[in-house]
Amino acid sequence: MHNLTIAELVKGLQSKEFSSVELTEHFLARIAEFNPGYNAVITITADQALKAAAAADARLAEGNAPALCGVPLLHKDIFCTEGVRTSCGSRMLDNFIPPYSATVVENFEKAGAVMLGKTNMDEFAMGSSNETSFYGPVKNPWAIDSVPGGSSGGSAAAVAARLAPAATATDTGGSIRQPAALCGITGLKPTYGRVSRWGMIAFASSLDQAGPMARTAEDCALLLGCMASVDDKDSTSIDHPVADYTASLNDSMQGLKIGVPKEYFSEGLNPGTEKAVRQALADLEAQGAQLIDISLPNSGLSVPAYYVIAPAEASANLSRFDGVRYGYRCEDPKDLQDLYTRTRAEGFGEEVQRRILIGTYCLSAGYYDAYYGKAQQVRQLIRKDFAEAFKQVDVILGPTCPSPAFKFGAKGDDPVAMYLEDIYTIATNLAGLPGMSVPCGMVEGKPVGLQIIGNYFDEALMLNVAHQYQQVTDWHRQAPEGIA
Ligand code: GLN
Repeated sequence: MHNLTIAELVKGLQSKEFSSVELTEHFLARIAEFNPGYNAVITITADQALKAAAAADARLAEGNAPALCGVPLLHKDIFCTEGVRTSCGSRMLDNFIPPYSATVVENFEKAGAVMLGKTNMDEFAMGSSNETSFYGPVKNPWAIDSVPGGSSGGSAAAVAARLAPAATATDTGGSIRQPAALCGITGLKPTYGRVSRWGMIAFASSLDQAGPMARTAEDCALLLGCMASVDDKDSTSIDHPVADYTASLNDSMQGLKIGVPKEYFSEGLNPGTEKAVRQALADLEAQGAQLIDISLPNSGLSVPAYYVIAPAEASANLSRFDGVRYGYRCEDPKDLQDLYTRTRAEGFGEEVQRRILIGTYCLSAGYYDAYYGKAQQVRQLIRKDFAEAFKQVDVILGPTCPSPAFKFGAKGDDPVAMYLEDIYTIATNLAGLPGMSVPCGMVEGKPVGLQIIGNYFDEALMLNVAHQYQQVTDWHRQAPEGIA
């Protein structure tokens, strides 16, 4: 059952081939057996899941079941879940039990999905390797000595290891696409504003966006259809009709204009990764698409701009964790100042503290214009580059990451080397554009991701391209050794 796609699971549930309780028990048993080896799931909600599955079976029996009725999934531990610990991978929220659920979680509940538990992640979604979680690193199912990517590494590893057919994730600078690439699965970051951020713990509010992870583009289409909504609880959520993302999956690639940015194939790109991505481009060309060389001249500025804007917003967002209202509180504070400083020094890990320091510095009087203001100007240039490109092409394709999964500790001492992991993904967040990653090959036994960037609200087209690619290739069907 764990090798079936969500589309197949929905059919099986509706035709009563298996029940949601059977399916849920099957995945819970897999989590119990395999998760200790990966550390991908940090909270298992077995009782709640079995109750929800039984309720789903009752609805299925009545014959009026919603889209994902009875389908099990995992939520990244950044989404608030009523009555279930939501840690954001941090000691700061190790004891936090939210009194409400995120809109994303509610949307999946309405669609009848069954939550199996919560996935591990980099602390406050800051990282590209899942080494910064308070709950320890997540291991990549393809190579246990290597990282799964971050920050949604728990979700990606869980889907790759078939601990769940799908998982939710978030992407501020690449955290859906990069771990999807490194774990050989399909992941989609929607247009900024497409999915509500209500109840999703904030990292950098102008960049954060939630999206689905699954094994196929078709499954991501089904998931996005349930996840996306306009929400008056999120003032940046956009009132744009939610498409039936499955309706155009089979549209032809004939005449599709694919932009290939030269900046995405420059120095620093692993030769094996480049070969796999070029082959994927050729596969789409063989289906009738046209490859057009383009340039995104300011893309080299995206990492420096991001590492001003994201920490600046994070420093403001994370000021709420002060030991007074909720979350961790230090022992026996001497006075209020001591309460603040020790709570934050003990509750936040090293990377989070580094970001708060950088962000506070960039926002301080005297430096604001030089750093934050400048970075916002660069952001406009990056947005304009894409606007120019989309006058000529329908989608933009390239690698998701510069190289396959690296070993634990390989970039631990060098934050800048780690930050460069997201060199191809960050620009889309700065521009607010949607992007996805699709498995397109293997290098040294580790998966490679093909990135598809679309214009605003063009998720259906990106999913169409990804689905057509998956019709002629089987990278998305491969499983890590010992998993299938
Ligand atoms: N790796 C990037 C960072 O550390 C992006 C993380 C993310 O998208 N949440 O900030």
